[in-house]
Amino acid sequence: MRKIFIAGNWKMNMTHLEAVDFIKDLGYKFKNKNDCDVAICVPFTDIESIKKTIKNINIDIKVGAQNMFYEEAGAFTGEVSPKMLKALSVDYVIVGHSERREIFGEKNEVVNKKVKAAFGIGLKPIMCIGENLSIRESGNAEEFVIEQLAECIRGIDKKNISSLTIAYEPIWAIGTGKTATPEDANVMCGAIRKKIGDLFGNKIAEEIRIQYGGSVKPNNATELMAMTDIDGALVGGASMKVDDFLAIINY
Ligand code: PEP
Repeated sequence: MRKIFIAGNWKMNMTHLEAVDFIKDLGYKFKNKNDCDVAICVPFTDIESIKKTIKNINIDIKVGAQNMFYEEAGAFTGEVSPKMLKALSVDYVIVGHSERREIFGEKNEVVNKKVKAAFGIGLKPIMCIGENLSIRESGNAEEFVIEQLAECIRGIDKKNISSLTIAYEPIWAIGTGKTATPEDANVMCGAIRKKIGDLFGNKIAEEIRIQYGGSVKPNNATELMAMTDIDGALVGGASMKVDDFLAIINY
């Protein structure tokens, strides 16, 4: 039985001071849950303050980063390494978010190296895949997403794969207020699971968690989470509003 996993993605928002206020506010209302894992993926500059605040108020929310480079150290000005994140006791790291792909030109090959580097140091990657509007409208979304998946997980060790979270995020639904219908999102997540089964066997396909992301809000979370192949959500905008994020967690 897969446990629902709700992860927030704050993107490039919230100074560390704003982040601490947010977590304190969330902490007053947040009840630890057994049936749902919760994480917030924050800017690098917020990680340490957030970790301390979460520890002080003793709530079960994991912290993730939103990106990292794949090398351990070296002349890569401006980059942050897996080792640096691990030293901050970060649990999760988003890799291959569509904003990284579209704005910073990240290709599947790079995403693949990042997934391997995350596993190499004991971070759990949340790997994003998804099609843009023109691919969706051309009717080739499934083929595109499955190829993206195959390229991004190429050569990953079987022992690691079930601790990968895959976030299916149709780009046309991110930050737009448009959500894939729960049925369409479920079909894609089912196709992703089938491909995992073909590559790694049915046991792993049944264990791996597949999130949906793209304008998840309190008013659509219940329907999305009820779908058989959707095991949680990657939440952007709504994860920065305490009441909305809580409502999604308590979908
Ligand atoms: C995201 O940032 O991954 C995302 C899904 O954003 P939003 O929920 O705002 O569409």
